[in-house]
Amino acid sequence: GWIEMAKYQIATIEGDGIGPEVCGATVHVLKEALGSGIMDFNQFPGGASHYVKSGFVLPEETFAACQHSHAMLHGAAGLPDVTYPDGTEVGNDLHLQLRFKLDLYANVRPIRLYQGDFSPLKNRQAGDIDYVIVRENTEGLYASRGAGVLLRGEVATDTLVVTRKGVERIAKFAFELSRKRSGAPSDHKRRMTVCDKANILRSYAFFRAICDEVAQSYPDVAIDYSYVDAMTVHLVKRPEFYDVIVAENMFGDIISDLGAATVGGMGIAPSGELGDHHGLFQGAHGSAPDIAGLNVASPLATILSGSFMLRWLGDRHQDQQLTEAAERIERAVELTLSQGKVIPRDLGGQASCTDVTQAICRNLD
Ligand code: ATP
Ligand code: MG
Repeated sequence: GWIEMAKYQIATIEGDGIGPEVCGATVHVLKEALGSGIMDFNQFPGGASHYVKSGFVLPEETFAACQHSHAMLHGAAGLPDVTYPDGTEVGNDLHLQLRFKLDLYANVRPIRLYQGDFSPLKNRQAGDIDYVIVRENTEGLYASRGAGVLLRGEVATDTLVVTRKGVERIAKFAFELSRKRSGAPSDHKRRMTVCDKANILRSYAFFRAICDEVAQSYPDVAIDYSYVDAMTVHLVKRPEFYDVIVAENMFGDIISDLGAATVGGMGIAPSGELGDHHGLFQGAHGSAPDIAGLNVASPLATILSGSFMLRWLGDRHQDQQLTEAAERIERAVELTLSQGKVIPRDLGGQASCTDVTQAICRNLD
């Protein structure tokens, strides 16, 4: 007989290490929050463990599904000691391939502190830390991956690539996001901070100059600048100042781990890799093979990536019911953490991955 397809098709790849645990948990919560008939979660193989089994990191069928789905929800990819025949690491090649094939140029990392004493910073309340890092995902210093040069075992060089097109689109993305996040133009936090090292390197000066050009079209968003070294101090000393921060690939990578640490660590940091046509959502952490299969990983980063996915889809498809489901999930996470009874281990509690997942489902209003 016929199988009715839901309106939204999601390609899920559980991947490696803790990937299956945290991805499974998230699909469970999303299904609870949405009810049936709205979203189908279709599982596809991929990643380092699948490479070991099959010789393929991103099978053709998996890629086609990712390309044709409304969004992608992933666990994590990468395992130590899995290498291609030429000796290079497989790592998270799954995501690198998807990133470039689908042009996922914006790596978006929301940094938000929840109630419950999870920050290593002194006297920080929920709401004090609530900003988004927009990391350029396709060029910068990581563009030379594989193309770095080692000269006679004496000198190694990599190239930092900054293009007009690359900065224009990431800056525009960041300004738009700041607009979307704030209520009124008078909102004191409507601000886009450019994180660079424009005082030392020409490529970063170019990055800043292009951001300035793009800023002309956003007179309602304050533009602000910070050298990356100072940025690390500011994110510790005055995180409440920030709204949206845009950064070149490597700087974005570094400050987003720092940001995650200020709100409790990698286990609570969501991420979305977004392009103009596709979105891939997964926790900001890796596959954590040290705790894989033990049911102790925190599913929060992936669950919050799932609610981020619903918001993104709700926005794209003008579908209020997705946005509302995302808000319900976030409220359930908030409630679960503030109750203080079911807290994952990396946040100082005892709860297992499944305990946390069930508590969040119970707390959905
Ligand atoms: P990547 O190279 O993909 O960034 P990584 O080497 O930085 O990965 P992660 O897998 O991100 O490492 O995690 C580092 C450590 O943090 C893990 O070994 C694990 O102990 C802890 N960790 C990461 N994610 C979680 C989680 N969801 N729950 C609990 N602990 C986690
Ligand atoms: Mg890492």
